[in-house]
Amino acid sequence: MNIQELARKNVQILTPYQSARRVGGSGDVWLNANEFPRAPSYPLTQQTLNRYPEAQPQALLAAYARYAGVRDEQLMVSRGADEAIQLLMLAFCEPDQDFILYCPPTYGMYGVSAETLGVGCRVIRGKTDWQLDLPAIKAALDNVKLIYLCSPNNPTGNLLNQDDLRELLAITRDQALVIVDEAYIDFCPEHSVVHWLSTYPNLVILRTLSKAFALAGIRCGFTMAHPDIIQILLKVIAPYPMPTPTVDIALQALSEKNLETVKNNVNEIIDNRQWLVHVLPICDCVDQVFDSQANWLLVRFYDSSDVFRRLSEEGIVLRDQGRQPGLRNCLRITIGTLEECEKTVSALRAIPCTGSLP
Ligand SMILES: *Cc1c(COP(=O)(O)O)cnc(C)c1O
Repeated sequence: MNIQELARKNVQILTPYQSARRVGGSGDVWLNANEFPRAPSYPLTQQTLNRYPEAQPQALLAAYARYAGVRDEQLMVSRGADEAIQLLMLAFCEPDQDFILYCPPTYGMYGVSAETLGVGCRVIRGKTDWQLDLPAIKAALDNVKLIYLCSPNNPTGNLLNQDDLRELLAITRDQALVIVDEAYIDFCPEHSVVHWLSTYPNLVILRTLSKAFALAGIRCGFTMAHPDIIQILLKVIAPYPMPTPTVDIALQALSEKNLETVKNNVNEIIDNRQWLVHVLPICDCVDQVFDSQANWLLVRFYDSSDVFRRLSEEGIVLRDQGRQPGLRNCLRITIGTLEECEKTVSALRAIPCTGSLP
């Protein structure tokens, strides 16, 4: 028997998500996965590991609701935002019939989850400024149930125009959910659309503790939406999705005292980002540095594969974005500690401008 042929057809042809970990690399400066550069330390306080955890831990919902400014019933907690991306399709999209829509260059998991589940994709490229192409989106809405948007957008770093978001939410009100992935909103909280939840019943917001909270290792994400949407998602989530240690640590991370620490960490990352914005253009190999509201910078080089290779040789691992539409020669640099930023700039300054000059 050929085991390959035993798998579902769309799984046979699936290219799995190329996570930073899967792509790998070697070095001691990891600037490829938008993680926070230092590990926080939390004790484990819950010793009831013989018991199943609460399905939706009430204390954790209450703590995040307070942090985000929503009501508990507008909230679901899951194994990272990635699980929520897939649960939405599982709950709302009929395989081989319904579509999701997304706008590259953007986060890769929307497409990978859809392919895994046999849900069709409408792919509408962002405009040259990476804002939504509303006329093209409007023309492509037939059988679209879910629209996945990301703001700040990974990997371009820009926020989506709020007037465009409002228009899209209004147009799709009776037809589709608009999911705004706010994985990086803690780096610019004033731009969250969370306070629109009471206005738009078809708005869904995704959040995570993986980025600004420095907790990618515990796998904890949040979905915020109308309570009716939350109830539907809770029908398809696993019975006990949240491990007791995850909940224990997440609760500590959301304490008033730690929220102060997170705020300071965010400010440190923003300071380092601004420093990089100023010094990167001095490097001969750099063509263009794009504005970012998040914890990375997207940079266009004259010859990105040369830069990528030379930095790996120095133990500095970046993320290649060159295969996304419109991002030829672009690398994404996660903002690390100041020391890591300085090391990166020294390595870049040593690279000549090897690209094809006019
Ligand atoms: C990192 C990331 C996620 C995944 O977050 P997890 O909570 O770690 O699953 C979701 N969306 C975007 C845009 C991301 O960059």
